[in-house]
Amino acid sequence: MLHDRLDWLDDELTHLRDADLDRHLQTFAGAQGPTLAIAGREFVNFGANDYLALAGDPRLAAAAVAATEREGWGAGASPLVVGHASSHERLERELADFEGTEAALLFATGYAANVGVVTALVGRGDVVFSDELNHASIVDGCRLSRAEVRVYPHNDVDALSKQLQDAQTFRRRMIVTDGLFSMDGDVAPLACLVELAKRNDAMLVVDEAHATGVFGPHGRGTCEAAGVEDEVEVRVGTLSKGLGSVGGFVAGRRSLVEWLVNKARPYVFSTALPPAAAAASCAALDVVRTEPARRIELLQRAERLRSTLRAQGWDVGPSVSQIIPLVVGDAARTMQLAAQLRERGFLVPPIRPPSVPVGAARLRLSLSYGHTPEQIARLTTTLAELAPRSDHLPA
Ligand SMILES: *Cc1c(COP(=O)(O)O)cnc(C)c1O
Repeated sequence: MLHDRLDWLDDELTHLRDADLDRHLQTFAGAQGPTLAIAGREFVNFGANDYLALAGDPRLAAAAVAATEREGWGAGASPLVVGHASSHERLERELADFEGTEAALLFATGYAANVGVVTALVGRGDVVFSDELNHASIVDGCRLSRAEVRVYPHNDVDALSKQLQDAQTFRRRMIVTDGLFSMDGDVAPLACLVELAKRNDAMLVVDEAHATGVFGPHGRGTCEAAGVEDEVEVRVGTLSKGLGSVGGFVAGRRSLVEWLVNKARPYVFSTALPPAAAAASCAALDVVRTEPARRIELLQRAERLRSTLRAQGWDVGPSVSQIIPLVVGDAARTMQLAAQLRERGFLVPPIRPPSVPVGAARLRLSLSYGHTPEQIARLTTTLAELAPRSDHLPA
């Protein structure tokens, strides 16, 4: 019988459970937001990437409804094969405008955008330098590209510089990095990376997934915040985090977008997003443009939260953003803390290997503009109760 040959799955799953590394889905009712209803109970949600509290915003829903009535639901095909609707076209124009680039290209997800960009820009005979903490979609893009992959230690520009020295024999070079790292909430050393890229004739790709809408004077991301936008020729972003919608995008020169339309396999061989999803993203971009207070206040509150947590003795790592890790170390202890927080009404996801290195398990707080001061205060009080100061002081 067929299922007999899948029995090994049960053994492997038992191993995962024994190591406290198994993962489970939970279902929430109603809209995504700073509070979530799960199994009839309300939780304060510090787990979502909905940084600007737009996922449940009625303006996005209204834009999607109006577009659905106009353009229907399904896109019908991949963009090249009659799947590109007027809402897609409008979003791409608005994204290019927003990013200040010649052009932008919409992908079904940020994951697809990264896989598409890396595989379209490097191949056999090329080399790609990738930060060791880059997102899985970049890692997968590197693997699929067939280029030689050299992983450099996290944010270590000296190590990268050395690695680049003997890379001139390759046809093309690429440096790829997250702008804002999702597990530590820290930022890539972009000015140095720009210099290294120039000096070594390497393309520079920055993935702004967690920073789109949040960082920089206009919310374009970490490149804008560092003042190096014009020197980063390939910028990837996602509409699924700060913008509360869905979809990934690449912004840059026109020839980049033309090349990707022809060569990026996740673009060519996958159905376009529903046009209504693009319309909702346009509504989200509008909020980002007209309500800068969301990102400004979010980052100010994050800074205050980090200092409160530090004063309590928590290790918040190198975070400089709305993503705040509470590094615990042990996976089982991390799970226990997450469960205790949950009992007290807080969703704070535990992050374990393989998402982070062994011994670096952590809780990850994602702060949203939608969290009230009272919710944040209750969280810090609860955290202080759960892990007394002495627990976290160096031995
Ligand atoms: C979440 C994430 C992605 C993937 O974006 P989706 O739109 O969720 O597919 C890509 N890169 C980074 C750094 C991310 O954190």
